[in-house]
Amino acid sequence: MNPDDLVFLTRARSSVLERISLAARRAGRDPATIQLVAVSKTVPADRLRAATAAGLRDLGENRVQEALDKQSGAPGARWHLIGPLQSNKARRAVEIFDQIQTVDSDELATRLDRMALEMRPGRPLPILLQVNVDEDPAKAGFTAAGLEAALPGLIALPGLEIRGLMTVGRFVTDPEAARPTFVRLRRLSEHIRHTAPGLGPELSMGMSADFEVAVEEGATIVRVGQAIFGARGGPAV
Ligand SMILES: *Cc1c(COP(=O)(O)O)cnc(C)c1O
Repeated sequence: MNPDDLVFLTRARSSVLERISLAARRAGRDPATIQLVAVSKTVPADRLRAATAAGLRDLGENRVQEALDKQSGAPGARWHLIGPLQSNKARRAVEIFDQIQTVDSDELATRLDRMALEMRPGRPLPILLQVNVDEDPAKAGFTAAGLEAALPGLIALPGLEIRGLMTVGRFVTDPEAARPTFVRLRRLSEHIRHTAPGLGPELSMGMSADFEVAVEEGATIVRVGQAIFGARGGPAV
């Protein structure tokens, strides 16, 4: 482990946690209710050991194979899948991820349920349902109406624990531009939980460019990569 990187990542973590904390206080929320997932896609395995040593225990990866290649480098981390999951990789994903944040269809949920029952009996797999709240044709996820229709069936799947909802906002340069998306996800969650008990309260929303706005609007999980590890493709430290 590079000692300079440990120092760098310890500071980066504190700074992001401080920003989360300030945003939470502005909204009258308890900062302890917000979980930071450090998005480590493209970050080489040798930095991940420093990341976990710096206290970044929750790591987010968007590719199954990349996570598999790096996992042995960061023992003790909890792994979140935050990228699209193809059905032929579902079995591997159930094996190596602690939480799958990107369940975006009925078919995928049904497949994961079957595998979870077989591979981890008695331990339902924690998942989030990905919602395309902006109905952006370029994005994956349930529409709001599709989610409401599918939810009773999804909640009944015994192999899955549906902890809440996740969304990927549009890419923004002005964080305020992301706010309507986050408001929509929170309102959808509140509305559905009124009518369909069984959906968990988690809201995974917000990335480096807009996580403070997401926290102000109710995020319980923020997925932050570049604000911790540095610009992707740039120098490591
Ligand atoms: C890459 C990614 C992030 C993190 O983006 P940063 O700009 O590095 O914070 C968050 N969520 C998803 C789904 C991603 O693919």
